[in-house]
Amino acid sequence: MNKTVICPGSFDPVTLGHLDIIKRASKMFGKVYIAVLVNSSKTPSFSIEERIELLSDAVKGLDNVEIVSFEGLLAEYCRQHGVDAIVKGLRAVSDFDYEFQMAMANKKINPELETIFLTADSDSMYLSSSMVREIGSMGGDISNFVPECVHDRIVKKLKKN
Ligand code: ADP
Repeated sequence: MNKTVICPGSFDPVTLGHLDIIKRASKMFGKVYIAVLVNSSKTPSFSIEERIELLSDAVKGLDNVEIVSFEGLLAEYCRQHGVDAIVKGLRAVSDFDYEFQMAMANKKINPELETIFLTADSDSMYLSSSMVREIGSMGGDISNFVPECVHDRIVKKLKKN
């Protein structure tokens, strides 16, 4: 489908769950932006530069994927950059309320903008960045949770925090 979509998130840090959604979106759509959101109400463990660098390595080889970062309204960014839809992964019913609310709000701001939900893969539906941070910071094994090419860097950083 020759559409442009965007996968937004904090990616603090990237997980195999994120990567699954990004890979599936890149097969379905012509262009996929990954938006690393600068959220002033959250204090991230990884700086914006680190999150972008880890993501860039994780998506190497996916030619229609581009990483962007911005502060402000996602729906406005989509309007300005010709994005047709937001793609999000749905892990469990617990994600649904919040995601539904966000999708409605974004549609009010930008009526042209659709939100598309992909069901999380059964192997990674329990996975979140916060779980990776928690396990990693206590020295636990996170090799099943993050892309192999960025594993060592994530482990090193989490141990320092
Ligand atoms: P997290 O919720 O892990 O802190 P983000 O806010 O960075 O992650 O997530 C960005 C988006 O990536 C989420 O809104 C969700 O759509 C998707 N996502 C995150 N983790 C998973 C997962 N394990 N499986 C599928 N999609 C996921």
